[in-house]
Amino acid sequence: MTTNGTTFREPLIFDIGGEGRTGFALPALDVPDTDLADVLGGGNIRDSVPGFPRVSEVEVVRHFHRLSKWNYCIENGLYPLGSCTMKHNPRINEVLARLPGFVESHPLRPTSAAQGNLELLHHLSGLLAEITGLDAVTLHPCAGSHGELTGMMLVKKHFDTLGEKRKTVLIPDSAHGTNPATSAMSGMRVVELKSDSRGNVDLEALRAECDDTLAGLMLTNPNTLGLFDEHVSEVAEIVHQAGGLVYGDGANMNALLGIVRPGDLGIDILHYNLHKTFSTPHGGGGPGSGPVGVAPHLVDFLPAPVVAVVEEGDDEQAPLFGFETPVKTIGRVKAFNGHFGMMVRAFTYMRMHGEEGLRQIAEYAVLNANYLLARLRDSYHVPYDRICMHEFVAEGRWPEIADIRALDISKRLMDYGIHPPTNYFPLIVHESLMIEPTETESKQSLDAFADAMIKIAQEAQREPELLHNAPISTPVGRLDEVKAARDLVLRCAVDSES
Ligand SMILES: *Cc1c(COP(=O)(O)O)cnc(C)c1O
Repeated sequence: MTTNGTTFREPLIFDIGGEGRTGFALPALDVPDTDLADVLGGGNIRDSVPGFPRVSEVEVVRHFHRLSKWNYCIENGLYPLGSCTMKHNPRINEVLARLPGFVESHPLRPTSAAQGNLELLHHLSGLLAEITGLDAVTLHPCAGSHGELTGMMLVKKHFDTLGEKRKTVLIPDSAHGTNPATSAMSGMRVVELKSDSRGNVDLEALRAECDDTLAGLMLTNPNTLGLFDEHVSEVAEIVHQAGGLVYGDGANMNALLGIVRPGDLGIDILHYNLHKTFSTPHGGGGPGSGPVGVAPHLVDFLPAPVVAVVEEGDDEQAPLFGFETPVKTIGRVKAFNGHFGMMVRAFTYMRMHGEEGLRQIAEYAVLNANYLLARLRDSYHVPYDRICMHEFVAEGRWPEIADIRALDISKRLMDYGIHPPTNYFPLIVHESLMIEPTETESKQSLDAFADAMIKIAQEAQREPELLHNAPISTPVGRLDEVKAARDLVLRCAVDSES
């Protein structure tokens, strides 16, 4: 067992343990013995699994625990992944999500025995609608991308109902890859729109694409450059005049909370990422949730069922919650009511902050990003340099240093104990470094990040090999980024002969 201090250089699980070790012990059989071959068929039974790891419980626990300590998580420190909103997950969310009434409630419980849970879903939908100025919200989609797919299904249903065959969806070139992917999956024809020199949708390009095939536009605002589209209302107006719908990608809602309501800007459909804006864990930390809100003319198409008040309450009687099926529903997009645990966390987060607090989240997210932008713009080229929202995009290259790339900078950051920002997205910036600090970082942690970034920019000038060789302080050094995809080696326990 080799170590670096108390960090273990962990081997593969196949390379630890030894013959005869197992991680479990079964009690003596107290029912009649049955031959497995009789039940499963002799051909499906084998005596041993070649290469299967033979490890004791303590070896399994230590192996995975050590690996988990190699992982960088939001509990370690700043996690400035642009577009992902890796903010602190308040622990009160976890406490409430673990209440037995939430955790132990089976989704098939009769509604009469699940009133509290339904009430929470109903109020959460209401808060999400209010925050965005939309009419109704489905909580079913289980990720932002799933929300987009649901949104595109709603767009299709809208035109099917009108008897119109419109299939063109316009998507700005700064968009997240899920936008064109979900549009194409729904049978739409994707047309890319270029951005203008200030990072807005190019209005001329937009007008040129507006014809009677236009189904809609997918707009991320603030966009993935971290910029608020200065013509957003005009963009919506142009699309509406051409008969199309405006889909809002709400992944960046944390910049707008309590300040701007997308519904007021002309957005017809919008997805929320509860795991970004409303602090539920994501990435390796848990499943997502991507509710979708709609303007009044699309409410009848929402996925079924929706939670509703089925009997109004009065002074003596609490209202009764139940399910309703929207009259022209697109059907189900997810089993039961989506990822309920995420909804408890998001609801807790919203109620804990209240109106004023939610607005402050947006204000501090924007302030923190602008603080970092101000500290870094002399060291890194920022191609669309104006007041940013909750994130900004810099270039990870310098014209005078030929062979330094964004990846080198990110790898070097790991030597300073900091998780790298998002690399190589959005695609319209060369060697892009997309930086989103979030509102939960203190000035000290922002400064530590800025100091490290500035130091790395100096290293790039003076000692570029430091960047090329990075990281040097992690359990595993620089990986070959393509080898894993091109030269797949799977140590598989199943013998191909058997
Ligand atoms: C994260 C993100 C998405 C996709 O959301 P998921 O929940 O990861 O599926 C879409 N658009 C933008 C701008 C995003 O940042």
